[in-house]
Amino acid sequence: MRTEFSAEALQDPATAAAEAAIRRCVRCGFCTSTCPTYVLSREELDGPRGRIYLMKDMLENERQPTAEVVQHIDRCLSCLSCVTTCPSDVNYRHLVDHARRYIGERYRRPWGERLFRRMLLAVLPYRRRFALALTVGARLRPFAAGVRRIPGLRSWARMLESIPATRPRTPSPALSSTPSLLSNGQLPRRRVLLAQGCVEGALAPGAQAATRRLLTRLGYEVIVSEREGCCGALAHHLGEHEQSIAALRRNVAAWGGEGEVAAIVSTASGCSSMLKDYGWLLRGDAAYAAPAKVVAERVADVCEFIDRVGLPKPPGAAAVPPLRVAYHPPCSLQHGQRLRDLPVRLLREAGFEVQLPQDAHLCCGSAGSYSLLQPDIADALRERKLAALHRTQPDVIVTGNVGCAVHLAAAAGVPVLHTVELLDWAYGGPVPDALAFRSG
Ligand code: SF4
Ligand code: SF4
Repeated sequence: MRTEFSAEALQDPATAAAEAAIRRCVRCGFCTSTCPTYVLSREELDGPRGRIYLMKDMLENERQPTAEVVQHIDRCLSCLSCVTTCPSDVNYRHLVDHARRYIGERYRRPWGERLFRRMLLAVLPYRRRFALALTVGARLRPFAAGVRRIPGLRSWARMLESIPATRPRTPSPALSSTPSLLSNGQLPRRRVLLAQGCVEGALAPGAQAATRRLLTRLGYEVIVSEREGCCGALAHHLGEHEQSIAALRRNVAAWGGEGEVAAIVSTASGCSSMLKDYGWLLRGDAAYAAPAKVVAERVADVCEFIDRVGLPKPPGAAAVPPLRVAYHPPCSLQHGQRLRDLPVRLLREAGFEVQLPQDAHLCCGSAGSYSLLQPDIADALRERKLAALHRTQPDVIVTGNVGCAVHLAAAAGVPVLHTVELLDWAYGGPVPDALAFRSG
């Protein structure tokens, strides 16, 4: 696409990167048919090519963002399905990130939206605040219908409705009682750092507990850093650049101080996708650029790391009863990290019967805080996704990101688990809590 950015504007590295992305676009439109919001609305401006036009016009002419442009950019899930499809290698990810920052710095949202976004940024990235908010929110849940009727408070009502009625029990990592999977039973040989993230521990603690058990049996010492925090994705996708960069710096400093580790493993693919981008995001930061690159290179999604390490033969088919698994590939894993088929292969090798649903490339509508900010689109995408998953007649739905798991579980009607919970079970770990009744 031909661009006419001023030489002065291109002095800014972020604007120059956005311009380079726009210039690569040949307007072929291949991306539109794989864009979830376009599939729903059939509106050009709710597809990637239309959004690229809008962003080009806004950024090139340094225009004040209009409500209409903001609406179309806000409706983008950042699922990156368009990036997987694009034959011209357009870096839509960094382009839309830049547009969000541009909007965040120049556009004044209605008061209800501003307040809600501030609340998200003040609560979700902080583990203790989030746990407290879940407790308070569960008590306020009965008032959600009343809140929904107040103009401007739709997202608040949606948030109350999405708070699980019961909090999941934190499973024991049970490290000492589980037998080693190493053939010679040797003691831990290398350390691996488990990124704890922000909301996963409170909403779906089973994934991290299963990871600790499985990696320990594979001979790794699993450590965590108490000084780390949210990966910064929430603030980043809300266009809050300063808060996001502060989170990145904090994690780079925290993990850099932990010494040599084999990998920084994340069980939330939304986080691992963001963490792998730390090198690029901090590339102009004199103090953090080099260590951020090291961090980004060490990050591995949990399935990626397990595959790298190598699993032995499963302990025996009897350990895992016949179970039909429908696998939902999170966008942050399949598009953000190009790891679509790996979890399926690992699950099949472990003895599970695994199906991918039709249109597996489409987002389920979770997308971080998107399901709270765009509830109608999020619900429509979930409905479509669950219908496709249920056509495979699953006993269980499996995915690799806490956001997808919670969003789908609210309407799934069958248990929704993380891939690593099934792998841990197949290789000698306990039955996941959500399936315990089946094995009893
Ligand atoms: S597929 Fe790529 S090149 Fe074609 S319109 Fe979409 S972003 Fe542009
Ligand atoms: S990131 Fe996803 S929602 Fe956004 S334009 Fe690309 S395909 Fe569409």
